[in-house]
Amino acid sequence: MQSFETLGLKPEILRAIKEKNYDNPMPIQAKTIPATLEGRDLVGCAQTGTGKTAAFMLPILHQLTKQARPQVVVVAPTRELAIQIEDNVRGYGKYLPFTSALIYGGVNIEPQIKALRKGVDILVATPGRLLDHMRRRNVSLKSVRHLVLDEADRMLDMGFIRDLQQIMSDMPKQRQTLLFSATMPPEIQRLAKRFMTNALEINISPPTAVAEGITHRIYPVPHSLKKQLLVDLLRDEPVDSALVFTRTRRGADNLARYLERKNISVTRLHSDRTQGQRQQALNGFRSGKFKILVATDIAARGLDIPQVSHVVNYNLPECVDDYVHRAGRTARAEGTGFAFCLMAPEEIDLYNDLETKLGRELLTWVSHPGFDYTKEPKMTSPSEYRQQHARRGGPSRGRRSGASSARSSKPSRLSIRSDSGRKEEQAVTESSTARYGRIRRVAGSR
Ligand code: AMP
Repeated sequence: MQSFETLGLKPEILRAIKEKNYDNPMPIQAKTIPATLEGRDLVGCAQTGTGKTAAFMLPILHQLTKQARPQVVVVAPTRELAIQIEDNVRGYGKYLPFTSALIYGGVNIEPQIKALRKGVDILVATPGRLLDHMRRRNVSLKSVRHLVLDEADRMLDMGFIRDLQQIMSDMPKQRQTLLFSATMPPEIQRLAKRFMTNALEINISPPTAVAEGITHRIYPVPHSLKKQLLVDLLRDEPVDSALVFTRTRRGADNLARYLERKNISVTRLHSDRTQGQRQQALNGFRSGKFKILVATDIAARGLDIPQVSHVVNYNLPECVDDYVHRAGRTARAEGTGFAFCLMAPEEIDLYNDLETKLGRELLTWVSHPGFDYTKEPKMTSPSEYRQQHARRGGPSRGRRSGASSARSSKPSRLSIRSDSGRKEEQAVTESSTARYGRIRRVAGSR
């Protein structure tokens, strides 16, 4: 087996990862680090929790020299992910003489301007705010030698593709570009072709694979009983900490309030909350102060919250890719965990997509022992559910083009404001509203 030492990394880096108790490189690291050290461009198709951050950051840190700044730009879709990456950068690079800064929207721009003027080696940024700084001439990217695009498919979904193109156009052509994405839609492939040279493709798992350590359970339940069932599950299952996904921000607020009334330790994360509130929620959840985090899909990508034992899809996600990302919040770093779906009959189309892409055998249908389903008929198999949905006048499979149609919908960008953070938020909102709106209309649900 390969070790970090045989990969030829600098002693300062080896010392830092030793302190993190990393014994051996994870598969993505064993594949990515040698190619990156050779200076190659790279497209990595990898699911979350695979050790991606170290895979790109260790070899970049190894190659850094004292020269014009910034030398490295890492672009990530959300502020939370950017914060997490920068935290890792500081950890991995703690014995090296390089500085890093976080650039994201929704917060005061002045401290960022100050940091940029002073000069930093490594920028970790969300696309909107970085572009904002470039337009204001707070930073020039002419000295960049390494670019990382993390969660590229998520950035595409959030409507950032043009921003990314612009950011890359302002960088020297002579640079190393590493692109990571859980899925490889055609737009991302085109982006890679246009802006990368002879990129090596690294596939750590099929695009829609989920980690092996996850037990997937489908709890069929009418929408009206979901809240009660969730409370029962949180009480009766061996839940250390659970991430509960809702479809909308308002849904997250309502559900969190309901859980609070039931004396369950809960916090919430969505894009209507201020950056301070979001960070507080995340920190509180990470530290164990809150057992439950109710969130929209903003929390589905890339966030490393090691102790999540259960992911609960209170509403099914709109497509399989999103399910993979949500479920990927548990069983991180080759651990184990549970992914539950509380599924109402009107969500059967989304379930059908899951079954097609992930396989029926992975998805166990269960009813929670002791739960009172009597107010509504209890259904325990996919066929019963499909019949029930057909009786309610649901669409046939053929009418809905599923995830692919939702995925291809482009968010309409709103007018550009000086506060790019807000713009980022709006792009997300627009994107999800448009996409969910479409699903709802076609599927005829609630
Ligand atoms: P990431 O996909 O970068 O978010 O990493 C997922 C988790 O794996 C994080 O908690 C990392 O600290 C951890 N990790 C990364 N590389 C290793 C390694 N070689 N050995 C053990 N844990 C690791």
